[in-house]
Amino acid sequence: MSSGPTGAADAAPSSGAPAAAEPTTNALPAFRFPLGEQPLRLAEGGTAREASAANFPVSQGIAGVLMTLVPGGLRELHWHANAAEWAYVIAGRCRVTVYDTQGACEIADFGPGDVWYFPRGHGHSIQGLGPGECKFMLVFDNGYFSEFATFSFSDWLAQTPAEVVAKTLRLSEATIARLPKQEVYIATGPVPEPLPDDPPSGSQHAPALTHRYRLLAQAPRSFAGGELRIVSAKEFPISATMTGALLTLKPGAIRELHWHPNADEWQYVLEGNARMTVFASSGRAETVELGAGDVGYAPQGYGHYLENAGDSDCRLLLVFNSGEYQEIGLSGWIASNPRRLLATNLELAEQDLAELPASETFIVE
Ligand code: MN
Ligand code: MN
Repeated sequence: MSSGPTGAADAAPSSGAPAAAEPTTNALPAFRFPLGEQPLRLAEGGTAREASAANFPVSQGIAGVLMTLVPGGLRELHWHANAAEWAYVIAGRCRVTVYDTQGACEIADFGPGDVWYFPRGHGHSIQGLGPGECKFMLVFDNGYFSEFATFSFSDWLAQTPAEVVAKTLRLSEATIARLPKQEVYIATGPVPEPLPDDPPSGSQHAPALTHRYRLLAQAPRSFAGGELRIVSAKEFPISATMTGALLTLKPGAIRELHWHPNADEWQYVLEGNARMTVFASSGRAETVELGAGDVGYAPQGYGHYLENAGDSDCRLLLVFNSGEYQEIGLSGWIASNPRRLLATNLELAEQDLAELPASETFIVE
């Protein structure tokens, strides 16, 4: 969990990366990052581009990587030392393998609308299944995470003396001589065979908690102005440190003013346009226009809201760096306070407040 990036001097970033500069004026950091315009890391088998605190300074608590894999393209076996990995499949199909601390390996296929969560340090791989490219958003619970500095199988072997590799993996000298000399990152190879419907017993030691959750298959919470699907540790127990949501806003709708007491919010626009406003206290607020491919960020505790100012539906992926989803909505808070107090607070008469909502609205048309 990060501290707020502007004005909270009580917490240092969790890694050795430089701290974001403390503001000396009322200036706010940028809350929008054009991820879709970032340079691609390109391999034969796929692509990656990333948003992290290194290129998007406000995002100290969460980083993201948009990745594609061609059929057979394999994001090699690797792990992350300093972040859990949450992902949402946008298009296409892929297979993951993930190995846990109990010696259990889950091998499962993912399609559009599916989510995975890999706890920090669990070894995993991802392979495109086709037909067509698989596209997914990876989100990490550490803003200083870099996808380009992960702990990769091939890299480690390349750094290990041949006799140690020979003893460990029982490879011949000739085979060891042909091992990659540096990190492979994304390999290419054949599309794997379909998984058996019922894995023969003993072929796969299934983990206690699945790493897969079918978010798009969840019945949404519906509102006149849109809908919400949410997956926290309550729905997806392994996802102990992250929560994700799919939010659809119809044209003109507003996801109301609110904040999250326990988490930063990382937003990715899947379709349409969203206008996000962040309130940062001390007379400071900023509005950013987010288009498809853009990332927005609302630091923990900062007030914010989203509007669909376009003429088509806006679909957003929202990710929080806590497995427990918490929010406080302005309308519910205000509805719970005495009218007389509100009138005094706003220097109005009570009758001016007759139309206040009686309960939380969440999304308003
Ligand atoms: Mn990974
Ligand atoms: Mn929010």
